[in-house]
Amino acid sequence: MKAGNRIFSNLGTTVFTVMSQLATEHSAINLGQGFPDDNGPDDVRAKAAQFLEDQPNQYPPMMGVPDLREAVAQHAHRFYGLDVDWRKEVMVTSGATEALSACLLGLINTGDEVVLLEPLYDSYLPMVRLAGGVPKLVRLSPPYWELPREALAAAFSAKTKAIVLNSPMNPSGKVFTGDELAFIAGLLKQHDAYAICDEVYEHLVFDGSKHVPLMTLPDMRERCLRIGSAGKTFSLTGWKVGYVTGAPGLLGPISKAHQFLTFTTPPNLQRAVAYGLCKDAAYFKALAASLQRKRDKLAKGLARIGFEVLPSKGTYFVTAGYATLAKPFAGDDMAFCHHLTTDAGVAAIPVSAFYESEPPQSFVRFAFCKSDHVLDEALARLERHFQ
Ligand code: PMP
Ligand code: GLN
Repeated sequence: MKAGNRIFSNLGTTVFTVMSQLATEHSAINLGQGFPDDNGPDDVRAKAAQFLEDQPNQYPPMMGVPDLREAVAQHAHRFYGLDVDWRKEVMVTSGATEALSACLLGLINTGDEVVLLEPLYDSYLPMVRLAGGVPKLVRLSPPYWELPREALAAAFSAKTKAIVLNSPMNPSGKVFTGDELAFIAGLLKQHDAYAICDEVYEHLVFDGSKHVPLMTLPDMRERCLRIGSAGKTFSLTGWKVGYVTGAPGLLGPISKAHQFLTFTTPPNLQRAVAYGLCKDAAYFKALAASLQRKRDKLAKGLARIGFEVLPSKGTYFVTAGYATLAKPFAGDDMAFCHHLTTDAGVAAIPVSAFYESEPPQSFVRFAFCKSDHVLDEALARLERHFQ
């Protein structure tokens, strides 16, 4: 029998699914896969329910319902001062995952090089390869996750088509600084390359710092595709409503990829997300403040138990080293996460899953987007286990 597609045949199931299944099997608290355990804002869900009854449920326009495209453009202006023409520059996708795939498939020709920063979200590498691209990996490492500027500059060449930039970054919690963004912008100009900016955690930044889209830097407006996700902005990860913003010429071929990936996204979820994006500033502030408190609770608790807790400036995640635990663990991070799930009753994600090869040792990612009592119980279990 002939084998299936080479890239997908050689892939395992995503680590997020693997760890969630293991957590379920062992009744462990799931601090692995990043999803909130509340049900999202009541008013946004009520709008969706109302729209499902009142509004059409047939195919919406391929680029997305006008209400949502307008809301995405207004949101970009309100938060970042970007002027976006919603008719030509915004496309709605089925989550950021589809947006990423459409951008890569729409931009890349066989042999084009794509710069990727490790640790990387798990869909990037296979989708670059599926599109015929050649990944050029540049590594950021714990505990400081510094951008290795020389290595990054060396990864760019005349063949570079694009960089994929995830800021705030999963799993490191790194928020790229203005200086780092300016350095990346310089490379894009020098090599005539584009940036696919995965900004799904744009509203989940802490300690008063601000998310700055690369697109807002000088000369970057035409070179960047900015991706957002209602999953993160409204704690509705199951809705899979995402959006891409970019210059019309850039978005053109990407929309052709989108038309054969999903073509559209459920129209009444789009309408409800449009309502959500127009919520007042208090909503967005409260979301970040609530997650910051949860980060602090989990980080403090993990440090008390003996983990080396790394700073997290954004996202749902905190990375922790286990080499500092009083009771040493001999195995790798996958084995540690397995052990944590089955024996301590708390699931986490091995940081090695975010590296193609030779990953950093002994770091795991915990999600803190959970109810306080769930975080407390997880910490109590870990404390008992590591006592
Ligand atoms: N990018 C990053 C960095 C993520 O962590 C995730 C996971 N939610 C996604 C993209 C995918 O987002 P969505 O659920 O909207 O497809
Ligand atoms: N983005 C989520 C995470 O990093 C997982 C999404 C998924 O399971 N595909 O945990």
